[in-house]
Amino acid sequence: KLHNLVLELKGNIRVFCRVRPLLKEEIANNGGLDIIPHISFLDEKSLEVIKNPNFDGSSISGLKARNNNYEFNFDRVFSPSSSQADVFEEMSQLVQSALDGYNVCVFAYGQTGSGKTYTMEGVYNDSDSEGMIPRTVSHIFETLDDFKEKGWNYTIEASFLEIYNESIRDLLASPKDVKNINYDIKFTDGKKQDTYVTNLKVIPVESASHIYSLLSIAQKHRAVAATNMNERSSRSHSVFQLRLKGRNEKTEEACEGNLNLVDLAGSERLKDSGSEGARLTETQSINSSLANLGNVIMALGQKQNYIPYRNSKLTQLLQNSLGGNSKTLMLVNVSPLDSSLNETLNSLRFATKVN
Ligand code: ADP
Ligand code: MG
Repeated sequence: KLHNLVLELKGNIRVFCRVRPLLKEEIANNGGLDIIPHISFLDEKSLEVIKNPNFDGSSISGLKARNNNYEFNFDRVFSPSSSQADVFEEMSQLVQSALDGYNVCVFAYGQTGSGKTYTMEGVYNDSDSEGMIPRTVSHIFETLDDFKEKGWNYTIEASFLEIYNESIRDLLASPKDVKNINYDIKFTDGKKQDTYVTNLKVIPVESASHIYSLLSIAQKHRAVAATNMNERSSRSHSVFQLRLKGRNEKTEEACEGNLNLVDLAGSERLKDSGSEGARLTETQSINSSLANLGNVIMALGQKQNYIPYRNSKLTQLLQNSLGGNSKTLMLVNVSPLDSSLNETLNSLRFATKVN
C-alpha cells in the first residue's frame, strides 16, 4: 500500500541504477580482485555504499544510514551480473506506452566510462550485448504484427542528433553538409504541440535491422567531426528519437508517441580551473545542462508551477516529452572502481534528487 502511494506521488518518473562489471583490464590492474569493495546490493531496489574514509555521507541530505553504511533506493537496481536483456525487460513497458501514444524519455546518466553508451547502444551484431536502442526497435517491429491484427498500422521515423556546447548537430547528415545548416527548436502547429528541429533528417524506419545502418552512419559522422571521438562523445548529449504514428483502419483512431533515448554527456565534475576560452564555455555548458535536467525533473516530480525548460537546449527539445502525461526513465550508470567512488556518490546523489 505505502509503496503504491509513493509511486503514485512520484508520477511518471522512474529511476534505475546500473553498476557495470569490472573490465578485464581493470581486473588485471587490481591484481585479480573482482569484487566491488564499496558497493553492496541489498535487494532488487536498493544498494548501499559501505562507509569508507573517502566518503562522508553527511553531505548528502536525506540519506539513510543502515549499519553505518548508506542506503540508496531506486525503482530497480542492476548489479554487474545483470544483462542487457534484464535492463530492457524493465523498460519494455515504456516502449509499449510510446506505441500507445505517450511521449517517453529514457536517459543514461553517469560519469564517462560508467556504461552509458554500452547500455544505450551496446555492441552491434552481438545479440547478447546489443543495447536499449536496437532492442527498442526490434521490440517495436515484433509488436507491430499484433497491432496489425487489430487494425493498427504504424509509421516509424527516426532521427539522431547531438547537442554539443548548446548547439544541435544532425548525426544522420554528413559533417560537411551540417556546417551551414541552421538547427532550431520549433513547435509544431497541430493539436498535439510537439517540438521539432528545423532541417533535421527524419528517416522512415522500415525494419529492425535498418537501425544498425543508422547507428553506424551516426558513428562515422561523429568520428569525422571530432579530433578525439571519445572525448567529444563524453562532452555531448546524443538524442535518438523515434516518432511512432499509429492509425487504425477499422476505427479511424489515431495516435502519435515519441520515444527519446538519450546518452547524456559525462557527469564527472569538470573543473573550470586551468581551462580558458572555448574549453571553459564547454565545461560550463555541460555542467549547467545536466544540472538543469535534474532541476526540470525535480520540478516536475514536485508538481511545481514553473518548470525551467528553457534554461538548456536539451530540456527545450524534450519539453513535450517531459511532464504532462509523459513518462521518464533515468538510468543512472555507475562504475565499480574504488577510484570512482566520489563520482559514483555524485551520481547517486543526483538520482536521489530526481527520485
Ligand atoms: P560511457 O558511455 O558511460 O562513457 P561506456 O558505455 O563506453 O561508458 O563503457 C565503458 C567501458 O565499459 C566500455 O568498454 C564498455 O564496453 C564497458 N561496459 C560498460 N558497461 C558494461 C556492461 N554492463 N557489461 C560489459 N561491459 C560494459
Ligand atoms: Mg559514451
